[in-house]
Amino acid sequence: MLPQFEDTAIAFEYRSTKELKRADFLFSSMSSPLLTKIGMGFTKWAMDWNIPIKGIIKHTIFEQFCGGETMEEAADTARVLEKYNVGVILDYGVEGKEGEAEFDAAVPEFIKAINYAASQKNIPFISVKITGFSRFSLLEKIHSGATLTAAEQEEWKKVYSRIDRICNAAFDAGIMVLIDAEESWIQQPVDDLTDAMMEQYNKTKITVFNTFQMYRHDRLIFLKESHKHAMAKGYILGAKLVRGAYMEKERNRAVAMGYTSPIQPGKEATDKDYDEGVLYCQQHLDKIGIFIGTHNEKSCLLAAKYMDEHGIPANHPHVYFSQLYGMSDNISFNLAHSGYHVAKYLPYGPVKDVIPYLMRRAQENTSVAGQTSRELSLIRKELKRRKA
Ligand SMILES: Cc1cc2nc3c(=O)[nH]c(=O)nc-3n(C[C@H](O)[C@H](O)[C@H](O)COP(=O)(O)OP(=O)(O)OC[C@H]3O[C@@H](n4cnc5c(N)ncnc54)[C@H](O)[C@@H]3O)c2cc1C
Repeated sequence: MLPQFEDTAIAFEYRSTKELKRADFLFSSMSSPLLTKIGMGFTKWAMDWNIPIKGIIKHTIFEQFCGGETMEEAADTARVLEKYNVGVILDYGVEGKEGEAEFDAAVPEFIKAINYAASQKNIPFISVKITGFSRFSLLEKIHSGATLTAAEQEEWKKVYSRIDRICNAAFDAGIMVLIDAEESWIQQPVDDLTDAMMEQYNKTKITVFNTFQMYRHDRLIFLKESHKHAMAKGYILGAKLVRGAYMEKERNRAVAMGYTSPIQPGKEATDKDYDEGVLYCQQHLDKIGIFIGTHNEKSCLLAAKYMDEHGIPANHPHVYFSQLYGMSDNISFNLAHSGYHVAKYLPYGPVKDVIPYLMRRAQENTSVAGQTSRELSLIRKELKRRKA
């Protein structure tokens, strides 16, 4: 059965009317670039000056997009989603920490999440950002091809060991690890590290996924090369496909530094490569596990249609659909209702530490105007339906 993304009763059954009204207010505010700019500026200023705004953030944007401040709070949210066969990706959303002590301290936090996930039916994944375990400038240096000093080589070994301990714990616990993609100028060491982890932990089952940002014009080729590499080395490729979240930053840097932008010439080219990438993975499901991370209804429908037409069961173990918590519930809950594997990215962490994540959500919902108006129209449709 193909999913119906219009069914708002299914999409929002887990949200109270009060929560929907808050979402209406939030998405309306974010749809105004001016309001978003003022809100983001004010938040940054208030945080810099230690103005107590945690309460305001917590009860608005944080509750819309995050599972809670602790893993235990996120677990409560995960239990609500479980009732609707929607899975969860635990995402310890703390960003921007630098320093060896902080990086070391993050490892047990992730292993705790893995062990908790293993005790639950609907938490098949955790997600990891390599910048949570390594200095950004170290990644940048490796990416540039410059020679590392002896101290830097030692530092990189520690990064490797941190990620290895996490993947090892996940392998033992039967949990999958999604390694996020970040800025293109640090991506080479992230890809290399992830390939090494896949080679070690994906031989018999899929534990590790790399992320392919299809807004980059070189990623469709890279996806196919990664598949060939996996075949040659005898492991299953974990491929998380997204469009990419750092477009403006990427383009601005390329202009400022005078190199060719790694970003596609336009949205159409990104969409084309995204759908071709998904199709390629679906054609090789024996050796690729695909994670379709998108809020694009057309891409989700295309993928579901392909499965339907080719007799691939909706709950094929190598196919997952995913959207961010607080967004595109019409896709997630309707796909889950039709029997597809769905998991929501559920970030958690202290309010002040997840602010960079929340800022990206605010920005995304401003710049992707079509998506915001879609969210708003669905929320309003559901509020109207409930009133009636
Ligand atoms: C589950 C999940 C996990 C994610 N993980 C990551 C991650 O690890 N790394 C990461 O970078 N992002 C990640 N994202 C964010 C993602 O990359 C997108 O920014 C976001 O999902 C919007 O894309 P879309 O496919 O949902 O929707 P759409 O609205 O169809 O696409 C919007 C996207 O298209 C691209 N785009 C827009 N305009 C243009 C243009 N003019 N030219 C070229 N391309 C254009 C941009 O990537 C933009 O974000 C994740 C998203 C999800 C849902």
